[in-house]
Amino acid sequence: MENLTKETIDKGLEVLDTLNDGKLLTHLNSCVHCGLCADSCTYYLANPEAKFIPATKVDLVASIYRKYNTFGGKAFSKIVGARTLNEDTTNEMVDLLFGACTMCARCVSHCSIGVDITYVIKKGREMLSNMGMVPETLQSTIDSALETGNNMSIPETDFVETLEWLEEDLQYEVDDDNAKIYLDQKGKDILYTLNPREPKFFPLSISAMAKVFYVTGESWTISTKMYDVTNYAYYSGNYNEAAIITQRLYDEAENLDAKKIVLAECGHGSRAFRWEGPNYIKKEYPFDVTTSVELLASYLKEGKVKVDPNKIPDKVTLHDPCNLARSGGIWHEQRYILNKCVSDFVEMTPHGIDNLCCGGGGGQLAMSEYNDRRMAIGEIKAEQIRATGAKIVATPCHNCVDQLTQLNVTFKLGIKIMTLGEIVADAIVMETKD
Ligand code: SF4
Ligand code: SF4
Repeated sequence: MENLTKETIDKGLEVLDTLNDGKLLTHLNSCVHCGLCADSCTYYLANPEAKFIPATKVDLVASIYRKYNTFGGKAFSKIVGARTLNEDTTNEMVDLLFGACTMCARCVSHCSIGVDITYVIKKGREMLSNMGMVPETLQSTIDSALETGNNMSIPETDFVETLEWLEEDLQYEVDDDNAKIYLDQKGKDILYTLNPREPKFFPLSISAMAKVFYVTGESWTISTKMYDVTNYAYYSGNYNEAAIITQRLYDEAENLDAKKIVLAECGHGSRAFRWEGPNYIKKEYPFDVTTSVELLASYLKEGKVKVDPNKIPDKVTLHDPCNLARSGGIWHEQRYILNKCVSDFVEMTPHGIDNLCCGGGGGQLAMSEYNDRRMAIGEIKAEQIRATGAKIVATPCHNCVDQLTQLNVTFKLGIKIMTLGEIVADAIVMETKD
């Protein structure tokens, strides 16, 4: 890292202006150092060093706040544990706030007094973003999204070709030459989004949702210009970039006159667009927004999709994406779906809102420099899966699918990883043609 200029340091410190952020002021000053959050964090569980305790990450940001914003911090730095924002603390922040946190928020629910630890970590990431210190690997994923409209820089022609052969597959699967994957259609009820990992690596999850939409007779379309549900700027702390990405999907929904956006199975993408997005762009959405998980559950509840759980006889367990379950409150719906669609569903321990992160959140999948740590914390998830005896792990998040796929190989789990759309599609009972 080059020497930090005063201008760079000032940009970082701007984020700690608590005159405009009472919540930050509260959570920077509330920790009572009880240590109860330690065992909630997979980084600490995998490597029990004090620096990996969630409270240490909070204190890193709080110590810098104290230095510049309190009398004690200015006058008696050592006594009150106030630290200067310099190259050492900046390096430490990058290492701990980007490199040792998946922003899973499990520590928040375990904190004895309710410190919003991830809020403070996000503020620390925002400081680093203001200072131009976002890891290049993470920033390049965001740059791809900003430059090309999708974070994997998939050319539009390749994307369209992929969807064309998926449409042929769909027609074969449902035995109907008129079955369609609708592209860029105006006035449809649903604008369906995708995680770019789907066209690139996991196209079967697109086929699965297309089959579900076919069976329900849904009015839907995919945009070839703006289909990317992800928003990695949510992870980097650059909310100007997060707003640009959010606004693009907003504009495409308006352009296509869609009534509703359905967010593909993606934890952080769902959170970034549905819950954070209106704050990024500072306006409400004039259309409905829902997740695929909620939509699939509603199709089953309303009887729009008929399923036979005996079509999936293997033992199935569920990995809850942190951003959907713990932070989004969506955790009943995936259980409803699995209880309808598979014959042997078993929960992990712990699960639901107390589930352990798979290790792929927080932008970790993009930041290859922390791969060793990611796999070390992933081993905890791998053993959690192994203990269930499940042959299939369902998860409504493509980042989780990617991480679980790597854990499957590394820790020889012998499992199949499926999205909920794939589970529903496999369990569908097609009505016979006359
Ligand atoms: S958000 Fe998750 S990974 Fe980050 S400090 Fe808390 S428990 Fe650890
Ligand atoms: S559980 Fe909460 S109060 Fe206790 S050390 Fe952790 S952050 Fe601080």
